[in-house]
Amino acid sequence: MTTFESFDPDTGAAIGSHPIASAADVAAAVMRGRDAATWWRHQGWDGRRTHLRAWRRQIAQGANQLAEVMHRENGKPVADALLEIMLALDHLAWAGKHAKGALSLRRMRSGWLGINQAALLEYQPLGVVGVIGPWNYPVFTPMGSLAYALAAGNAVVFKPSEYTPGIARWLEQAWREAVPGGAQVMQVVTGLGPTGAALCRAGVDKVAFTGSTATAKLVMAACAENLVPVLIECGGKDAMIVDHDADVAAAADAALWGGMSNAGQTCVGIERVYVAEPLYDRFLDELTSLVRSLPVGPGENSAYGPITMPGQLAVIQGHIADAQRDGGRTLTGGHASASYVEATILVDVPETSAAVQHETFGPILVVTKVRDAEEGLRLTNASRYGLGGAVFAGNAGRGVDLARRMRSGMTSVNSVIGFATVPSLPFGGVGDSGFGRMHGEDGLKEFTRAKAVTRQRFATPVPVLSFSRPRWVTVVLGRALRFLHR
Ligand code: NAD
Repeated sequence: MTTFESFDPDTGAAIGSHPIASAADVAAAVMRGRDAATWWRHQGWDGRRTHLRAWRRQIAQGANQLAEVMHRENGKPVADALLEIMLALDHLAWAGKHAKGALSLRRMRSGWLGINQAALLEYQPLGVVGVIGPWNYPVFTPMGSLAYALAAGNAVVFKPSEYTPGIARWLEQAWREAVPGGAQVMQVVTGLGPTGAALCRAGVDKVAFTGSTATAKLVMAACAENLVPVLIECGGKDAMIVDHDADVAAAADAALWGGMSNAGQTCVGIERVYVAEPLYDRFLDELTSLVRSLPVGPGENSAYGPITMPGQLAVIQGHIADAQRDGGRTLTGGHASASYVEATILVDVPETSAAVQHETFGPILVVTKVRDAEEGLRLTNASRYGLGGAVFAGNAGRGVDLARRMRSGMTSVNSVIGFATVPSLPFGGVGDSGFGRMHGEDGLKEFTRAKAVTRQRFATPVPVLSFSRPRWVTVVLGRALRFLHR
């Protein structure tokens, strides 16, 4: 079997060798998953919840070790890794606990025409779900699909990013130890892009993809060959709008975290900030002084880690250079040393510049003065992307109103990325950010098919759904429908 290596992004040193699963390997994993799915279904809601709890405990007990693996393979600080694990486990707990209530068999109202029918609805598992993941949140992001697909009664085959295969292997090993009787219910196949493409064609019942918009199109094309449904979670160009009455210090602090944490490699990270004119100068003063005191670089004290994917450095530097060429000014940062990019604040950048139009995925904030929050909203909504976003407003009602009109899947008011901490809320985008939802009841239903059953409780005195119905029924039906829908 051929292999590939994973690297420590801090040093560039190879730290692990992993198999490249061929199309045949992936198909075999899906076949094993199909058998395992039967076992998993037979565990019932309570059995599955118990197994998911065991997996959760296994991950929690080894969290320090997992955080070290994440630090080494992805580069993020150990504290951030632990926070990510905490968030992921919260979702795992929520999905296990709520699957039964959200999906199990229930009676529905039959309505007037179906008065003699008992109506039943349930959400049945699809079978085997293929999960294709990114590297930037290598535990939290795939868990948004894995936990919900498993809790809904599916087996999963998970193809992690080639930059973070060791982290996925760790999760798989934890599963095997926690659920030894159902080891094949959660399998990992490692490899590069072609392994992901093979998973789309391996007979899975759905593909949950998280990654870039460009790859999403390839995934959709591969899945289209067999009408395999897809959940698509892509990148973003999330904006923060700072209204005229916002708490400036809180907004600046949140912009700093939203833009720079995880070295800006966050799908729902803040990349653009639109500040209402009256607050603009104060906001920039606050933000730039915060940025200047942010420790960045190799070593334990760094606020964030290196750029995980070496090729991304050129994209980030290209966006900064484009912004400068287009008339933008760099207030802080602008440079990279080794794989660390300085926290960079850009201003006066035209909306047409690459740094405003495209996902940068680096610690860069483009701050723009706007007349008022409405202009900020208009510019926010002009993006092809629409994943998350934030609004800072003194008047909370107005903040929520702006948030509701933001063209995105999720918006936080007076915080950043708050929505990701609430497992009951759906997570997903619009436009180039994708479609479908992870998390919450919507996230559970994403991995099911609705199944409707009616059971006739009694025969109607006069047959209606039958060729033997008398002619006068037609006359009565005509009158009844005109009366009912008058
Ligand atoms: P990517 O598109 O390069 O890769 C994602 C995954 O797809 C990897 O596992 C990769 O091996 C696989 N892949 C590559 N080619 C494939 C093909 N032809 N068929 C099937 N699979 C293939 O993305 P990335 O660089 O790993 O992740 C970063 C992107 O993910 C960013 O755009 C980020 O915003 C986005 N993201 C989105 C969310 C979300 O929830 N919306 C969360 C995290 C990251």
